[in-house]
Amino acid sequence: MFNTLPSTYDALKDWSWEQFAPYFADLESRDLTDASADSFLKDWSHLSEAIGEILNRARILTTQNTSDEIAEAGLRTLMESLYQPSVQVGNALNEKLLASGVQPDNFELPLKRMRAEVQLFREENLPLQLEEQKLGIEYSKVIGGQVVQWDGEEVTLTELVKAFQETDRARRKAAFDLYAGRWLQDRDALNDIWKRAFPVRNQMAKNAGFDTYRDYRWLQFSRFDYTPADNQTFHDAIEQVVVPAAVRSRERRRQTLNLDVLRPYDMDTDSTGLPPLRPWKDIDDFAAKAESVFNHVDPQLGAYYATLRREGLLDLPNRKHKGPGAYCSSYPLTRRPFVFMNAVNTRSDIRTLLHEIGHAFHEFETLENLPYTQQRDYPIEFAEVASMAMELLAAPYLTHEFGGYYDAPDAARDRIEHLDQILQFWPYMAMVDAFQLWAYDGTDRAADPAACDAKWLELKARFEPDIDYGGYADYKATGWHRKQHIFRYPMYYVEYGLARLGSVQVWANALKDQAGAVKSYREALALGGTGTLHELFGAAGAKFAFDADTLGVAVSLIESTIAGLQAI
Ligand SMILES: [Zn+2]
Repeated sequence: MFNTLPSTYDALKDWSWEQFAPYFADLESRDLTDASADSFLKDWSHLSEAIGEILNRARILTTQNTSDEIAEAGLRTLMESLYQPSVQVGNALNEKLLASGVQPDNFELPLKRMRAEVQLFREENLPLQLEEQKLGIEYSKVIGGQVVQWDGEEVTLTELVKAFQETDRARRKAAFDLYAGRWLQDRDALNDIWKRAFPVRNQMAKNAGFDTYRDYRWLQFSRFDYTPADNQTFHDAIEQVVVPAAVRSRERRRQTLNLDVLRPYDMDTDSTGLPPLRPWKDIDDFAAKAESVFNHVDPQLGAYYATLRREGLLDLPNRKHKGPGAYCSSYPLTRRPFVFMNAVNTRSDIRTLLHEIGHAFHEFETLENLPYTQQRDYPIEFAEVASMAMELLAAPYLTHEFGGYYDAPDAARDRIEHLDQILQFWPYMAMVDAFQLWAYDGTDRAADPAACDAKWLELKARFEPDIDYGGYADYKATGWHRKQHIFRYPMYYVEYGLARLGSVQVWANALKDQAGAVKSYREALALGGTGTLHELFGAAGAKFAFDADTLGVAVSLIESTIAGLQAI
């Protein structure tokens, strides 16, 4: 017999697989019955939490300093020595639990997800998965190598796009010409990656017994509550009620910017034509003001955020060698989230913080409320409701009056931009999703990049009919090259559109009953992955929906709010 597993991260952080293995072996050898299921799942969770936290912390370190070679090597070693064996044992335990016929309490959906995993697993797909991953890395390398000369300096395209926010239109156009030209230099390389990735994906589906890669991915993403036909309904609804509103929004932009026609390089500059907002003094000011904001949303949420600050669980400022983007990770054993971003003093930093802290609240609520790790595995369609709703729930408190960042006119200006972006997002999301439903329908037509270009143009005409791409025809046709998800995370994207609709409904509820809406929001978060999408959205006071009526109500609220804010 061996000692009980230590409970703290500090006691476990240096453990090797050899030290964990006997605990897994013990689980594998146990007699699993209704009576023993609780201790089996709790002990399994404890092990998963320990290994999850070790890996997450190692992963976080590599993003906090991308030049730290020791951190990178450390993560690589852990992936091989700890992660891989733990996945194998995890599969064996999944199968043991399913074979036992035991039905633990509040565990129907975790069991359903496990069954799907087992159903999808094929030994012969492992090398294909590796091949696909390699192609994904190849895509990232092509993107990572995209640099141009701008203002006498070599800059990445990611840095170059900042110039699209400038007020000087001639500079925006000059930057855009460089940007479009650089992308087209990689046209053949990206087409080539696509031509190799596409058959690999279809083969994986075939190996697992599916007619289409679409259906294979559907199950892999545990999309139990909707079908491809629902997505088509959603696209139609977006075409019907969002596209006209997005066109109206761009027409407002065209008028305030005083332009004859909107070009692709006119979309990112502030629609007021004013220089960008600089909402905070320094990083402490940025972090402190958010605490006031969250306290006004809900005292307990404010307390969660204070914990993150107090315990050093926020890494907010941009700095040299820090990895890109923003994310929320988790220390499951310590029962804490961790938030990472690259704040550079722009209005979008505040939105990003609200969004990622929304994810952190989801972590807090599930870690507090659900005993088994598999119950906390919440669906992305709802995870993004947690974050996107927080952007909207916090919006009324961003003014100085509530300890926030802006005076009333600047707050109004910021909110208009945010709401406009929501209107622009749905049609774009529909294009990305419709493109992929078309590509993975079981035929080979999408193997030809020229057919993909033609499809993308057809979708552009349907969902973004009014932007003038004159002189940029090839750039326009290759828009699908620029969506990383299409290359690296296939079939994944509709989640954001569905969650956005949920988040607007939560916000609508808050306009009528703020405290009640936030209470439902928190209760829904606390369900983690134990409810269906209908149940999770329902608990949050929203409808999990694809239809033009629900979407139309959301769009009307957004447009009437924008009109009200324009009067401030
Ligand atoms: Zn998110």
